[in-house]
Amino acid sequence: QAKNDGRNNYKFFDPKMQEAIHERSSMESALRGAIEKNQLRLYCQPLVDHGGNLVGGEVLLRWFLNGEETPVMPNDFIPLAESSALILPIGDWVIEQALQYLKKWQMMEHARHLKLSINISARQFLQPSFVQNIKNLIERYRVDPKLIKLELTESSIIEKLEEVIPKMNELRQLGVEFALDDFGTGFSSLSYLKILPISQVKIDKSFVRDISTDVNDAAIVSAIVAICQSLKLEVVAEGVENQSQLQFLLEKGCYLYQGYLFGKPVPFNDFIA
Ligand code: C2E
Ligand code: MG
Ligand code: MG
Ligand code: MG
Repeated sequence: QAKNDGRNNYKFFDPKMQEAIHERSSMESALRGAIEKNQLRLYCQPLVDHGGNLVGGEVLLRWFLNGEETPVMPNDFIPLAESSALILPIGDWVIEQALQYLKKWQMMEHARHLKLSINISARQFLQPSFVQNIKNLIERYRVDPKLIKLELTESSIIEKLEEVIPKMNELRQLGVEFALDDFGTGFSSLSYLKILPISQVKIDKSFVRDISTDVNDAAIVSAIVAICQSLKLEVVAEGVENQSQLQFLLEKGCYLYQGYLFGKPVPFNDFIA
């Protein structure tokens, strides 16, 4: 017993681990001040159809720490935000900003049809106030709810379906739509596509990357596109970077794309311009 305790103590005082703990908590306190310090920025990446028409954009968050030019990317702080509850104020901030940009689109003749996709963390979506909060913002900014698409990831909502589905339906009654993000990366069954009140599925970019060379990825993507077609769900391919990927997707009947081939995420104001 004593030996075990000793080992645990040793582990706890391991300098590398201490450093990691320190780094995590200092990053957390930096992130806590990010909204007030005006360090968060919304970027937007285009969604296009097979005719090359812009049909919408996805809001992607960037964190500009201490006036630096290159932002901290979401994969490096969203998980921390999610595990520390900071995702709640951050998520609220993202939605409010995003709807203000959507309002700007709506007032532009050539942009008023564009749909805006917003990533929502499960923790944020599960807040009791989430639906009312969205309703309030829709009214405050007078945006058309039909132009709002909320992106949820399957793995994050699967355990809470009995809570999640009624909330989704409530928002759908307003006209808000849902996309299932990063599709294929979880281990859930295809039957969720039938159960969830979604209108769109986004194929994760990890499957798209090698579709033209990897037969397994090609098979997975073809199967996802086929099932979406038969369930009458829109299907978007993420991470489209080159013509051969596009060609493959086109042949399989996937007609909506997001990726560097069409445009990288850019600051929202640049997107508007
Ligand atoms: P996601 O929602 O799946 O967003 C797509 C990610 O793929 C974005 O990464 C985008 O920049 C990247 N991407 C798009 N096209 C290409 C391409 O052609 N090639 C490559 N290599 N990458 C491409 P990003 O911006 O780093 O965001 C990563 C993830 O962070 C997002 O994945 C989303 O899950 C999360 N995230 C971003 N913003 C927010 C937010 O406001 N709230 C929440 N909860 N999560 C967010
Ligand atoms: Mg997304
Ligand atoms: Mg995705
Ligand atoms: Mg993702």
